[in-house]
Amino acid sequence: PSVPGKDGRRILIATPRGYCAGVDRAVDAVEKALELYGAPVYVRKEIVHNKYVVETLSRRGAIFVSETEEVPEGARVVFSAHGVSPAVHAEAAARSLQTIDATCPLVTKVHKQAVRFAKDDYDILLIGHTGHEEVEGTQGEAPEHIQVVNGPEEVDGIEVRDPEKVVWISQTTLSVDETLKTVRRLRERFPNLVDPPSDDICYATQNRQGAVKAMAPECDAVIVVGSANSSNSVRLVEVALEAGAGKAYRVDRAEEVRDEWLEGVQTVGLTSGASVPEILVRDVVERLAEIGFTQVDPVQTASEDIRFSLPKNLRADLKATG
Ligand code: SF4
Repeated sequence: PSVPGKDGRRILIATPRGYCAGVDRAVDAVEKALELYGAPVYVRKEIVHNKYVVETLSRRGAIFVSETEEVPEGARVVFSAHGVSPAVHAEAAARSLQTIDATCPLVTKVHKQAVRFAKDDYDILLIGHTGHEEVEGTQGEAPEHIQVVNGPEEVDGIEVRDPEKVVWISQTTLSVDETLKTVRRLRERFPNLVDPPSDDICYATQNRQGAVKAMAPECDAVIVVGSANSSNSVRLVEVALEAGAGKAYRVDRAEEVRDEWLEGVQTVGLTSGASVPEILVRDVVERLAEIGFTQVDPVQTASEDIRFSLPKNLRADLKATG
């Protein structure tokens, strides 16, 4: 049971928050690879977009590189949860790398959609952020068919070969509402725009945004734990503000929470992105308790029990060694 805070100050803590099934699997893959094969294990790009996770794995012997060419010939490399293009797989094969592909199965699903629509010769509009690794990977499946649309403001500038044969797909970690705005604008321009066969914005992104939306109207301030390059964490800040939170901040860790953010705040909402370990949230709860937020009330809008099994070749090696 929670103890009422000084002057009634309280924390609303969102559920679901933190690790999703894809992140859990990707981090587990690197940990298991380190245990099984020993250090070093190379990882292409940040395995998940979280500073703490990357630092922790680095200390245990993971070496993070930005490109496959930095991995010594024949060495073992893990591909991150965000996915890679076929060109990256080809480069790895050319250098005889032993790959463990930790691409989230929900990202792979979007890749498969892209391949299918490209095969049917559609112009594919990929709603997402230029430069994000996931977008680069998906676009790489069919670069000649896919163009990236960052938001509604880019819709007027799009050129397609046949306006009757256009489909949209998206990055998995966008704001649901913002994406719908972009789709509405696209449909105004291309009335026969085809929808993807299923949601591309993943369950974890949707659930975390749903919980924040539910608590935001009651919050004078919302704190999102997550790294600056984590798309879904940054979206949570935007969603909190849209949904009526007085203010919203993103922090990598508890020490970044500033006292002045909480001046005059009675209710603070707390959540974390899909790449954030719970220990970082617990640290923020402690930090907030020190300044009088001792009552903690959960706001639960969904429950999750999705799990993904480890990448196939890693699973086989783990099994072989008992
Ligand atoms: Fe997979 Fe969604 Fe997690 Fe990304 S946020 S790793 S798509 S479950």
